Amino acid sequence: MARIYNFSAGPAVLPEEVLKEAAEEMLDYNGTGMSVMEMSHRSKAFEEIITDAEKTLRDLMNIPENYKVLFLQGGASQQFAMIPMNLMKNRVADHINTGQWAKKAIAEGKIYGKINVIASSEDKMFSYIPDLKNLAISDNADYVYICHNNTIYGTKYNQLPETGGKILVADMSSDILSEPVDVTKYGIIFAGVQKNIGPAGVVVVIIREDLITDDVLPGTPTMLRYKTHAQNKSLYNTPPAYGIYICGKVFKWVQKLGGLEAMKKRNEEKAAILYNYLDSSKLFKGTVVKKDRSLMNVPFVTGSEELDAKFIKESKAAGFENLKGHRTVGGMRASIYNAMPIEGVRKLVEFMKKFEDENKQ
Ligand code: PLP
Repeated sequence: MARIYNFSAGPAVLPEEVLKEAAEEMLDYNGTGMSVMEMSHRSKAFEEIITDAEKTLRDLMNIPENYKVLFLQGGASQQFAMIPMNLMKNRVADHINTGQWAKKAIAEGKIYGKINVIASSEDKMFSYIPDLKNLAISDNADYVYICHNNTIYGTKYNQLPETGGKILVADMSSDILSEPVDVTKYGIIFAGVQKNIGPAGVVVVIIREDLITDDVLPGTPTMLRYKTHAQNKSLYNTPPAYGIYICGKVFKWVQKLGGLEAMKKRNEEKAAILYNYLDSSKLFKGTVVKKDRSLMNVPFVTGSEELDAKFIKESKAAGFENLKGHRTVGGMRASIYNAMPIEGVRKLVEFMKKFEDENKQ
């Protein structure tokens, strides 16, 4: 069966060669006579897999030695709680509200302390990144929190907020590995891997070592302490071993393509094909302010719910899956993560042009 073009926001398309390689190794990983799914997480074979995955990610993102890389579970959503539980010494955090995932982190943070929303783009349906100058950072804030790429609304930070020396925490679930980042600017970067890296079930946390302490909120469970996982190299308990193995392969795939600079170039090229068409189309229109457009998630509308529905139906029949916008915003959204081939975007634009011709008003 031919593979379709999958524009899902996540879980999302993964590199075909990674999936093929994993399929070849399914019954016998590297002469062990078993699948990675079947092996002990304490075995030498798995130890090599996880060590190698971490090493490749460190190389790719140029992660300094004073940062730990953790492979955890619980989804990105669990980080919304783990971050305050581990970092909220004063029980205060400053958040920027750029959409649904940012809001969920705010709501979770409020369970543990005072959350100041220091900027928001809610007034215009999260179609832009708020002004980051002159933010009212609270003197006693334990950290400043951002959602770096907003999967649902298709915005991303091209600049970082001035935090006045406060720890910056970033949810990079939907844009990690899409372009280079300066890790030293952050206290914590975290990402659910099911968009740009691997199968759902693994969360990558990159955390500065001085933030890993025993000084956590009272009642923080062992499993939700960064220290537990840092001390045990992500092997305190049984990790999502097969997921980590696939992540490791995707890291290698990114490396083979030339690393994050090359990924950025490729992603800019891909996104430009779609955005240039959206900017010239008389039918379709992008919903995000140009300077804040995401390279990964591209929402667009026709302006008519009826035509949107027709487009989604016809595009699906033509082999373009998951173009329906998020249920909270409607319209369409094409998620074009690292593994979406450039032909996928070219073919989508061809299809959109044809649809525009056929539906001229
Ligand atoms: N943060 C962002 C930016 C997301 O896009 C998502 C999921 O789509 C999440 C967090 C939640 O991830 P999870 O389902 O792994 O909890």
